[in-house]
Amino acid sequence: MAEQLDRYVRQTVFPAIGEPGQRRLLASSVAVIGCGGLGTHIADNLVRAGIGRIKLADRDCVELSNLQRQLLFDERDVADGSPKAVAAAQKLRAINSQVKVEPLAIDVNSDNVEDIIADVDLVLDGCDNFETRYLINDACVKHDIPWIYGGALASYGMSMSIIPHQTSCLRCVFPQMPPSGTGVTCATAGILASTVAIIGALECSEALKLLTGQGQLNQGLIHVDVWENSFELFSVERQEQDCPACGKGRYEFLEGD
Ligand SMILES: [Zn+2]
Repeated sequence: MAEQLDRYVRQTVFPAIGEPGQRRLLASSVAVIGCGGLGTHIADNLVRAGIGRIKLADRDCVELSNLQRQLLFDERDVADGSPKAVAAAQKLRAINSQVKVEPLAIDVNSDNVEDIIADVDLVLDGCDNFETRYLINDACVKHDIPWIYGGALASYGMSMSIIPHQTSCLRCVFPQMPPSGTGVTCATAGILASTVAIIGALECSEALKLLTGQGQLNQGLIHVDVWENSFELFSVERQEQDCPACGKGRYEFLEGD
């Protein structure tokens, strides 16, 4: 075990983690849903940190316009048209062969999301769309699995840590999903590499706290704008009575309504 911990020495000398925290990380399983800008930053960070097992889900293949911000991919992956989950898994195994990396080159939907998250300790949001986020929220609330929301667009992004039935879930804060096709997207508004890096890093810091059981989780919704130099924390209240998901136990997105 001592040899296995050597590579994490800069993390284990950090008192809040230490060797006991590192052992907890090595025994942990996470799922990262989405393997684009956010997802690749998250996966890179957590694999280097020594998470024991990581599932990576993404249906897309690597494209040239991804390379500006999506860590873990290169020009060869573009030429090969590699599935993102598979290409990322290959790089991650070379970075840390101790970690069990499980690529899932699939579309995450209401039929499979519960299976994907069923055997992990924590789910991290690397998505680029609200449909999938509301599905993750339903599945995680239903199965009482913590998840960390994160979203990024242009120069700004948000993150929130969700412990089902203890803290606000996504639907406590945003009860209705924005109608599809009405919002701006990374394709129309752009996305900076520094935006996904900072939101991904915030999600990973929360993951380390949550999985080691140390530190104070983010108690609200963080909003960061790297262009406007703003970093704000909004308090949010759990809607114990009114929230369809964590209040009433109605999982409308899982049920396909
Ligand atoms: Zn809720």
